[in-house]
Amino acid sequence: MSSASEVRDLLSRFNLRARKSLGQNFLIDTAALDRIVAAAELTPDDTVLEIGPGLGALTQRLAQAAGRVIAVELDQNLIPALRYTLAAYSNVELVHGDILQLDPATLVTNNQTRQLAGDSGRQVGQYRVDGYKVVANLPYYITSAALRHLLEAAVRPSVLILTLQLEVAQRLAAKPGNLSLLAVSVQFYGKPLLVTRIHAGSFYPVPQVDSAVVRIDVYPHPPAEVRDVDQFFVVVKAGFGQKRKQIHNALKVGLALPAETIAAALRQAGIDPTRRAETLALNEWAALANALRDATKK
Ligand code: SAM
Repeated sequence: MSSASEVRDLLSRFNLRARKSLGQNFLIDTAALDRIVAAAELTPDDTVLEIGPGLGALTQRLAQAAGRVIAVELDQNLIPALRYTLAAYSNVELVHGDILQLDPATLVTNNQTRQLAGDSGRQVGQYRVDGYKVVANLPYYITSAALRHLLEAAVRPSVLILTLQLEVAQRLAAKPGNLSLLAVSVQFYGKPLLVTRIHAGSFYPVPQVDSAVVRIDVYPHPPAEVRDVDQFFVVVKAGFGQKRKQIHNALKVGLALPAETIAAALRQAGIDPTRRAETLALNEWAALANALRDATKK
């Protein structure tokens, strides 16, 4: 089903309609589907976790290129249509559920590796990258939550190929000067690259904005030395919490710490206190979080 009329036929055959509330804009552009699959560089050894298969257009292509596809769809109404479009693909496991409520490790691993996943957690310097790939044309409203869920999971994917709203894709891949909480949160775990742009007309129904495909290669080790990951994110959130405020003020408000403690930590990290959060590079956030951790532990 890679044309609007095929999608309409399928929807009517199964008595369905595209549900806006679930972000259902189905890809109908063969070339765009091919570009997404190409970006994933799939081989028969690959396991793919697909979020939101919809009517299965992308799933079919993933199943042709990968060894195993686990496709998680929230909308129960789409399941019969998916069983129909994916009937010929014995390497697809269809899961009805909310990706945000499911553990990626449980979805993709066998018993042996599931046990391994249980003993890890968020230990600094011990990122486990177990090689599965995530491919998703994500519903807009779960973008940040899904990224956090996947990147903070005990068993992380090695790479994510995500179709996102263009503006969000650009925000993810931004450089210091234009960073955001979302960008720092993603870039702490992996390297995002904008692969290609997808015109709004490539979807049915046509959304209001263009999209882009982003590839995020997950790092085997953190790119900056952070002593306490949870505390690091508390500091980053505080830094971005006060829009357009200078970093020393944002941290004072967000962390409820004395001005002198913050000034000393900024000095130790070599950061000018009048800078703004969006200008700090990842290694500067790490140095700042570590300095604040030392200062508050004394
Ligand atoms: N992959 C299909 C395609 O490219 O044509 C459909 C993509 S559509 C933008 C997003 C899909 O995600 C929909 O099928 C929607 O029902 C599903 N979805 C929405 N929220 C979800 C969630 N929390 N967990 C799993 N799937 C979800």
